[in-house]
Parts: sequence; structure tokens; C-alpha cells
Amino acid sequence: MTQKVNKQVCIAGGGPAGVLLGLLLAKQGVGVLVMERRETFKREFRGETIAAGSVAILDELGLLQSLKQNGFIKVKCIEMYEREKLLFRADFESFKHKQKFGIDIPQPVVLQSIIDEASQYPNFEIMMGTACVELVEQNGEIVGVIGKQGNELFEVRSELVVGADGRHSQLRKMADIKTKVKTFDRDLVWFKLPKPKNWSQSNMIKVHKNKHLIILPTFPDMLRVGTYIPRGGYRETRQQGIKEFRDMVTEIEPAFKELMEQHITSWKDLTMLDIFTAFARQWSRNGLILIGDAAHTLSPVLGQGVNIAMQDAVELSPFIVNHLQNNPGKTVPREALIPFEKKRKKTVKFVQDFQERQEKILAAKSQMETLVRRVKMRALHRLPWKMKVMSKLQHGIKYN
Ligand SMILES: Cc1cc2nc3c(=O)[nH]c(=O)nc-3n(C[C@H](O)[C@H](O)[C@H](O)COP(=O)(O)OP(=O)(O)OC[C@H]3O[C@@H](n4cnc5c(N)ncnc54)[C@H](O)[C@@H]3O)c2cc1C
Repeated sequence: MTQKVNKQVCIAGGGPAGVLLGLLLAKQGVGVLVMERRETFKREFRGETIAAGSVAILDELGLLQSLKQNGFIKVKCIEMYEREKLLFRADFESFKHKQKFGIDIPQPVVLQSIIDEASQYPNFEIMMGTACVELVEQNGEIVGVIGKQGNELFEVRSELVVGADGRHSQLRKMADIKTKVKTFDRDLVWFKLPKPKNWSQSNMIKVHKNKHLIILPTFPDMLRVGTYIPRGGYRETRQQGIKEFRDMVTEIEPAFKELMEQHITSWKDLTMLDIFTAFARQWSRNGLILIGDAAHTLSPVLGQGVNIAMQDAVELSPFIVNHLQNNPGKTVPREALIPFEKKRKKTVKFVQDFQERQEKILAAKSQMETLVRRVKMRALHRLPWKMKVMSKLQHGIKYN
């Protein structure tokens, strides 16, 4: 151990939750260190759709304009089709909020823009290629972490450690926080295709019999396509062969036939995502709080992971600032974090329950279940309070 560093807040994880919290705290004069295990933010297939509520957050922080210069796709509508027949449509123009669109943008661009903004504050520091490998505990309180950069270990002493280290959170395990994990009957396989000419700008679900595709226009001119396979069935899918996989997709969307043949030629063109939801039973201990996927992993339905992670950061920062201003040098106790935890658990539960209901509808297997799906989605489409529910999902409770 070569070094001991003091920072008021040490955040493990430089994803959307961690870097946004870092910026918000730095703006309030808090000394903050973000440790990110990876050397760069370059990562594929992660959180590219940012819901309207989080776009509003980025706009409030003055970041939307520079992101626009980089380029993004506006997401203004969600639609569901059974073949060419419309089952459901939610047009974001009907939101009562000022922010009437989400965006599709590579996540590294968003993270870098938040970090550039935060780096203007001398009290903000980020260490890339640095993992948090241990919690430092004293008398039942978390008082810091051990960081590892290359082969060097060093100690950070903090009033609060934030576990923003994602769906497989190590900090959650180190803090011995138990998690309720739910698995689903299906895993998700993602791939990208060039966007066909005149393709719709809507985020789309296409269902056909007991199968469906999620089709998302992705910056700059691609489609991100997801399809489901039985849970744990990736090996079997591979054994059946890439042609069978392409056939399965083109049976749902015949317009993809040629594109699939040209662009999905090996298993390297696919990314497998095992779907589970996780909900940490408690999000905090004295001196530690979990946020984002570390506290609650969501399913991919309606792409809410980044949204909820960013909302966590926005909701948490006033609690931290308030405690540090009134109790300088003192560990942030669990009791100061519980109001945040309670409030956010309510929001996350609402989103997870909604996702679970949708997943059940989408996962229709028998002919009867697909008929029920059709009826339910058409009924949902006609509901007068449809946009209220969509709005609550997209903007979060705070922004209603
Ligand atoms: C394939 C895929 C597609 C997705 N698409 C969407 C989408 O379109 N829209 C959407 O809203 N959500 C999407 N999600 C979910 C979304 O990516 C997450 O919900 C969101 O990124 C959570 O943010 P986070 O900051 O909590 O965690 P993460 O983004 O996972 O960030 C955690 C960070 O912590 C770092 N880390 C881990 N361990 C340590 C450690 N010990 N020390 C230091 N750093 C550590 C990791 O390297 C990582 O950078 C997708 C997820 C996947 C896997």
C-alpha cells in the first residue's frame, strides 16, 4: 500500500449513475473521486436509449446542446405491430412535460460529456483503469475503500462510499447486502443492422406468433435489434446454426432478409444478454450507498436502466450535500440515506412491476396467449391514461 487519499465521497463505477453523481456533487463543492475499473468508456451495446426524463436532466445541466453537436437520434414514439397491424402506439408529443423525446446516443459520448463538465471543478477527480477491490470498515461503519490501479494498491478514506458498479456489483457483495434476484424464461440476443431506407424512426416491437423483435433506430444510421431465445438456450441456438437464427428473425420481419444475410454471418455479430432483475434488500449501510444497477437491475423492457440510474444520482445528491454541510468530517449514517432509499424503491418497484407485466404479455407462447396479447395491447392502446403511465415511466416520479 503506497498512498492514503482523503475524499469526502468515493464513487466506485463510472457508468451513468456514478459519473452523474460525481458531477452533481462537484458542482456543490463536495470533494469527489470516481474510480472506474475500465481504461476507457468504449463499450458496445449498452444503454444507448436515454429516456425523456434523463434527457431533461442532461438539458438542465446544459449538456444537451453539445450532445446534439455530436449527434443523436430523437426517440419520439413507441409502437407495437403484429406483422403490419398496429397493436399499440405511444406518441411522446402527447407528454404533458416540456421534454417530448428521448435520445439514442452512444453511451461513451454521454459519459465523456458529463466528465468533461465535472472536470471543470477542481474538487472532482476520476481515475480510469482503477478498481475498488475492498471496503475499509471500522466499528461497523464503511470509512473508505482500497483501490487498485495496475499492481498498485492505495487507500481512500471517505465520509461516504457509493457503489455505482453495475449489475454484478462487487461493492454490494463486499458490504454483505442481500439481493432478491428474479430470472426470466428468456434471454435476449442483440445485433446491429444498417437501417433500411425509409425505415420508421419509432422504437418498435414486432410480434409474430410466439416470437418478437425489439427494433431500435440507433445513431448514426443503424438499427439495434433484439430477439429472445429460451433462458440458457444460447448454446442450443448456436448448435442449430447461424442460418436458422437468421431465418427465425426474418420470419418475424421479412424486410431484414438480405440485411441479415449480409451482416449476420457469424456468432461474433451477436451479443447475448442474460435477463434478470435484482433488487438489493437494503441500499445503504453506515458510510455506504448503492445506486443504479448495483441497487436494482432492471429488465430491458422499454430501456429504463440508464434513466433510473441517472434519476438515482439526481435524487441522492441533495441528501449527501445536506449531511456533509451539517456534519463535516462525519461518516454519512444510514439514517440520513433512508429517505432517499425509500423514495427510490417506490419508483423502481413501479418500473420493475410494469416491466414484469409487459414481459409476461410479450412472452406469449400458445395460440391462446398470443390472442390475449393482441387483445391486451389493443386495449392498452385505447386507454385514456396510457400517456400518463408512459410519462411516469419515461420521466420518473420526480418529473411528473
Ligand atoms: C446489452 C445491454 C443493452 C442495454 N440497453 C439499454 C438501453 O438502451 N437503455 C437503457 O436505459 N438501459 C440499457 N441497458 C441497461 C443500462 O446499460 C444500465 O441500466 C445502466 O448502464 C446502469 O448504469 P450504472 O451506472 O448503474 O451501471 P453501469 O453502466 O453498469 O456502470 C457500472 C460501471 O462500474 C464499473 N465497475 C464495476 N466494478 C467496479 C469496481 N469494482 N471498481 C470500479 N469500477 C467498477 C464498470 O466498469 C462500469 O463502467 C442495457 C444493458 C445492457 C447490458
